[in-house]
Amino acid sequence: MHFKQDFFEQLDGFYSQVYPLPISNPHWLGWSDDAAKLIGLQKPNNELLMQLSANYAAPGASYYAQVYSGHQFGGYTPRLGDGRSIILGEAIGPNGAWDVALKGGGPTPYSRQGDGRAVMRSAVREFLVSEALAALNVPTSRALAVIGSDLPVWRESQETAAITVRLAKSHIRFGHFEYFFQSESGDAGKLTQLVNFTIQQHFTHLSADAAGYKQWFYEVVQSTAKMIAHWQSIGFAHGVMNTDNMSILGDTFDFGPFAFLDTFKENFICNHSDHEGRYAFGQQPGVGLWNLKRLAQALSPIIDADDLIAALNTYQTELVNQYLSLMRAKLGLPQASINSNTCTQAAQAELDQQDLQLVGQLTVLLEANQLDYTNSLRRVGQIDPSSSYCTLRDDMVDLAGFDTWYQAYQKRVGEVADVNAWQGERNSVNPKYILRNYLAQEAIIDIEESGDNSKLLQLQQLLSRPFDEQPEMEDFAKRPPEWGQGLIMSCSS
Ligand code: AMP
Ligand code: MG
Ligand code: MG
Repeated sequence: MHFKQDFFEQLDGFYSQVYPLPISNPHWLGWSDDAAKLIGLQKPNNELLMQLSANYAAPGASYYAQVYSGHQFGGYTPRLGDGRSIILGEAIGPNGAWDVALKGGGPTPYSRQGDGRAVMRSAVREFLVSEALAALNVPTSRALAVIGSDLPVWRESQETAAITVRLAKSHIRFGHFEYFFQSESGDAGKLTQLVNFTIQQHFTHLSADAAGYKQWFYEVVQSTAKMIAHWQSIGFAHGVMNTDNMSILGDTFDFGPFAFLDTFKENFICNHSDHEGRYAFGQQPGVGLWNLKRLAQALSPIIDADDLIAALNTYQTELVNQYLSLMRAKLGLPQASINSNTCTQAAQAELDQQDLQLVGQLTVLLEANQLDYTNSLRRVGQIDPSSSYCTLRDDMVDLAGFDTWYQAYQKRVGEVADVNAWQGERNSVNPKYILRNYLAQEAIIDIEESGDNSKLLQLQQLLSRPFDEQPEMEDFAKRPPEWGQGLIMSCSS
């Protein structure tokens, strides 16, 4: 790893230097070749294992924990910060630099009552989901590796500690800006410094001046909308959309009790602590905007309120457009009007409304018939749009309801010249394999019971090609068994 230290060198006062504490008997539980390439690494080796488990110092690393605050479940916490994640610096790769962080690396000045550790189950889940989302083309932080140990940690019972080695283009969160807004009382020096740094590092096409700030916030709104459109299209529930878990780059970030939908349920809640469903699957688009408003407030000393509001007002349209575009690809609905030369803006808007309705009616059918979201959409790749029969119909109980929908759908899809190619396109955007909670759970149980990580490795392999048929792995596409349905994860990770 070759580090630069821009954050550490340029943002004194934005972090505490803190050294990670080693975990005993470290061993690789997982390693991502794809993530390794991002920072110019090849294969894992023992030296690296010792560095990433904090048993040896990593040459060139600075070791620091960032300070930030955030709105958690709607309430403001004035000081959070990295309580168990220690950043080594920005590792230089072939296409840019990535922060390398040891999540679970030990206590920091921001740990409060916590021990600074991560339990194996949560480290494994973060490792698997980061790489699975990347393979699904969803913007996300990455995971280089997950390292197991025999260091005991206490949650509801005794467990063992592990470290996820996270790679992120940036660890700057909405909560960073909130912290410096709230703590500076009128003097926006540090806030401005942080905005300038963010723009100079990550929005290099913009200038660090008033015009640049305005455009920057607009781009943050857009990328956040785009990220959440991806989540809704793929059936991903983040579970803890606190503003300290929102990356300023619109990458999916800070994984806890996340879940992919099995059975489609608009108001699916995956977080054990989320009693009111604040972060339910269907609430995510609205929460994204709420979080952006908190960010806008924090930026109000340096960006005109009118400009902030104008940018916020583009959120919903962008999210809907992105979602519609993703869902059109999944369902094979032509992106523009069939008759595009006569297409006026009003006609396009009407078509958008019709398509949104078609998508919405399908999800209502899936929910009413208690069908699996991923498997149902995968079946679109078996449809011959000229045929009145399709295999998706076989899953339905409400046949009349489905037939009504399907007729409208067929009409909208229109004539397809090459059915095989059309089906192939559907399969390239409707995954066959997702990280179902019960699959992650099975891999975790094997490690807990016998240290056997073979299922984890098998899952990782599988999920690196989520759109490909992998006949020998057919079982992994199945709906969860009874014990694995609606698993709800706790936050005690
Ligand atoms: P999260 O829900 O993972 O985003 O965590 C919320 C806050 O609690 C963050 O500031 C974390 O750094 C902190 N935190 C979570 N778990 C621990 C732990 N085991 N030790 C110290 N801090 C923690
Ligand atoms: Mg967090
Ligand atoms: Mg966290």
